[in-house]
Amino acid sequence: MSNIETKIQRERPLAEFSTFRIGGPARYFLEIESEEEAAQAMRYCSQQQLPYFVLGKGSNLLFDDRGFDGMILYNRILGCRFEEESVVAGGGYSFALLGSQTARAGLAGLEFAAGIPGSVGGAVFMNAGAMGSDVSQVLEWARVVSAEGELEQLSNEQLGFSYRTSFLQSCSKKGMVVGARFLLKPDKEASSRQRQMVLKRTSSQPYNLPSAGCIFRNTGRGAAGMWIEKAGLKGKRVGGAEVSDRHANFIVNQGSATAADVLQLMQEVQQCVEEISGEKLEREVLVVPYRS
Ligand SMILES: Cc1cc2nc3c(=O)[nH]c(=O)nc-3n(C[C@H](O)[C@H](O)[C@H](O)COP(=O)(O)OP(=O)(O)OC[C@H]3O[C@@H](n4cnc5c(N)ncnc54)[C@H](O)[C@@H]3O)c2cc1C
Repeated sequence: MSNIETKIQRERPLAEFSTFRIGGPARYFLEIESEEEAAQAMRYCSQQQLPYFVLGKGSNLLFDDRGFDGMILYNRILGCRFEEESVVAGGGYSFALLGSQTARAGLAGLEFAAGIPGSVGGAVFMNAGAMGSDVSQVLEWARVVSAEGELEQLSNEQLGFSYRTSFLQSCSKKGMVVGARFLLKPDKEASSRQRQMVLKRTSSQPYNLPSAGCIFRNTGRGAAGMWIEKAGLKGKRVGGAEVSDRHANFIVNQGSATAADVLQLMQEVQQCVEEISGEKLEREVLVVPYRS
């Protein structure tokens, strides 16, 4: 039996790995703690023809109520080191922590990351951003293990970033970001700017309830939250899922929400906004099907 096989867990509930706190069990669940393990795990899934899903901090997804009928590859490649004016972090490292640590070290560029509760790998995959900045503006390269288990270092250009997306999203077989390097600039104001950004977010977003952040992408004509608010949908509820009173582009779990509740509420919001303002809202949150 390989090292990888001995680490595989079965029927692990996924709700605890999603910031929505929703989701049934994973048939197989594996914590990945190094680049070598990532490569072995990818090869294992390919040999066994097992569907797999790469999980970061679960802050931009909705798991199915039945869970996932395959292998969850949970990225726990941690660690972060400063190299002069840049920083290299593992794919599973907290993106929020990276934002506050770099700013405290007097380096500017990642202040926006401080309130984003994802992993470095998830942030690269999503081109996460806030306050007018995003990953594409500071990333130098990312190391990615392909579905075939090959390690590649991809430059910023090769990652093909645009609004909340990267080339990694369009690959039919998803790879795993195992590390990334960010280029920063010395700036004494970085730390105070970062603290202000966090304050602004916590005063305008519902951080006290489980959610997956912004549910819909902004449209060319404005913020998704503005369209939802204009349609009078703040507070609208299906089961335990509710359009936040504080920020209309957040759906919060009031305690007992199921994935089915969230999906129905999302659909009703899309329909209502389209009827009222003609805007077609597209999902930002990833819905992970039970079977892929
Ligand atoms: C309260 C709150 C506030 C938020 N605010 C913001 C914000 O301001 N800006 C913003 O952009 N986002 C925001 N988000 C959304 C989310 O935090 C980001 O999209 C984040 O980048 C997702 O990272 P993750 O590790 O949680 O990814 P996950 O949710 O685990 O996964 C999301 C996608 O990324 C893929 N993925 C994850 N890790 C890897 C990896 N190592 N390699 C390859 N693919 C991977 C997954 O397969 C999946 O397709 C917010 C979320 C919450 C809950």
